[in-house]
Amino acid sequence: MLLSFSYYVKGNACVDTGAQYIHGASEENPVYCLLKKSGLLNQIPEMGEEAFYSNKGHKVDANFARYAYGAGESIIRYRGSNTGKSLGEHYAEKTQGMIDSLQEDNDKRTRMQSIFALVGKDMLIDIGASDLHRISLDSWQYYINMGDSLNRLVDKLLEDFPKDHLLLKREVSKIKWDGSFCVAPPHDEHLLSAHTESPSEEKLCQYPVCIVCENGEEIVADHVIVTISLGCLKAQASSLFIPSLPTEKMEAIDKLCFGNIAKIFLEYEEAFWESDVGTISLIYEDDTPASVSTNKMQWLKNMQFFSVLRPKERLMFGNILIGWCPGDIADLVETMTDDELSTAITDHLKMFLGHSNIPQPKSILCTKWRSNKFIKGTYAFLPVGVDGKVMDTLAQPLRVRIRPSFDHQVLFAGEATMKTLYGTVQGALLSGHREADRLAALYKKTVAPTSATSLDKQV
Ligand SMILES: Cc1cc2nc3c(=O)[nH]c(=O)nc-3n(C[C@H](O)[C@H](O)[C@H](O)COP(=O)(O)OP(=O)(O)OC[C@H]3O[C@@H](n4cnc5c(N)ncnc54)[C@H](O)[C@@H]3O)c2cc1C
Repeated sequence: MLLSFSYYVKGNACVDTGAQYIHGASEENPVYCLLKKSGLLNQIPEMGEEAFYSNKGHKVDANFARYAYGAGESIIRYRGSNTGKSLGEHYAEKTQGMIDSLQEDNDKRTRMQSIFALVGKDMLIDIGASDLHRISLDSWQYYINMGDSLNRLVDKLLEDFPKDHLLLKREVSKIKWDGSFCVAPPHDEHLLSAHTESPSEEKLCQYPVCIVCENGEEIVADHVIVTISLGCLKAQASSLFIPSLPTEKMEAIDKLCFGNIAKIFLEYEEAFWESDVGTISLIYEDDTPASVSTNKMQWLKNMQFFSVLRPKERLMFGNILIGWCPGDIADLVETMTDDELSTAITDHLKMFLGHSNIPQPKSILCTKWRSNKFIKGTYAFLPVGVDGKVMDTLAQPLRVRIRPSFDHQVLFAGEATMKTLYGTVQGALLSGHREADRLAALYKKTVAPTSATSLDKQV
């Protein structure tokens, strides 16, 4: 299912540069429920047919490709538990077993292998990683399956949010905590600015946290919920917090990986794909699932998946293909010019689709999540040897040293703090509910438990 969070407006059309699918279309999924409540579910476009092409320049039989793809997916989606193995090791072993057991002719075995490799490469895109052998097989042991994967949701969420409590466009440069920051009483103001010119001591209010913004503004608070991405934490945690974060929190930030994916939007005057096509997969016939990893020198080998923005009439997209790439290939394409990308991808498509008259796109847009200083990648994944429980450590509120009565001063939310749902919008949403519940419990208010409480109540 499609959703829309970060988007780029192109003429009349909006394209999703970030989260696009609801992973798990079921009543268990709070994002699905929000869309349903907002009446946005009826705007879901059909996914369209899958088309598969070989690097030999011909179409691959879709029935065979779908069958082999399904078999590969059932292996790669396995949820290991305390195996300590990598996803790559498991996938290579199991797919090889399946290929060995085939009584088919050699040609069919080769094609099966190449489609298994395609599944592995697509998985790198899902995870945002560069090498299946670096990803923990146990990644999903705590994960919650909310059902099969299936629009303007943020606007809907904002409808209920009091606008005068919202401060936008403030870049936070310091989070001072475990302190004592004085301000004048708030009068009617909802948000307080820290200042010191207040005349009499007894009129001052004291707050344990002070946020310093890049523009010099200071905002005091009893509690702060930090939701910046794991990528930003990796880059800034050591300088952002005063006093510094405890060692176990820094180690958790260090151990987790923050991946990247790039979406390259290619707009064409005319579609060169059939009107019912929703995805185009490119298969290298000599690929094998033994070592699914990227190679920057051959970056186009990881440009194997294209989706079609559908339907072009209703959403005014025009004829747009999205090329997807993972991990360090995404890092690489972010640094390339539109002309370089346009020429290389056009030649690539010509080779697979077997016709030389595929035009260059009339416009191109490549996402740049790694170089975006406010995210620095896409979402978290678990490397081999790291247990998902490290996300619980990341989610722990900071322990106050000086004044224990001011508890839960700094709390943490965001997708990387949810071992049951990291890398998703619903994980991010539920982590916010979890921390709101935590604060409500602190003040002993009675709140209706949210679904987050039952999903990730460990921390
Ligand atoms: C390309 C892409 C595709 C995706 N596809 C899907 C999908 O199909 N389905 C799905 O469920 N999920 C998808 N995701 C993942 C999903 O978008 C994330 O899991 C989710 O948005 C994470 O939310 P968050 O609140 O944890 O972090 P973020 O959305 O990163 O929010 C963090 C916020 O902190 C702000 N910030 C950072 N530093 C500072 C600072 N110093 N001062 C002030 N503010 C700061 C940032 O501006 C940002 O607004 C995708 C993500 C990407 C990038």
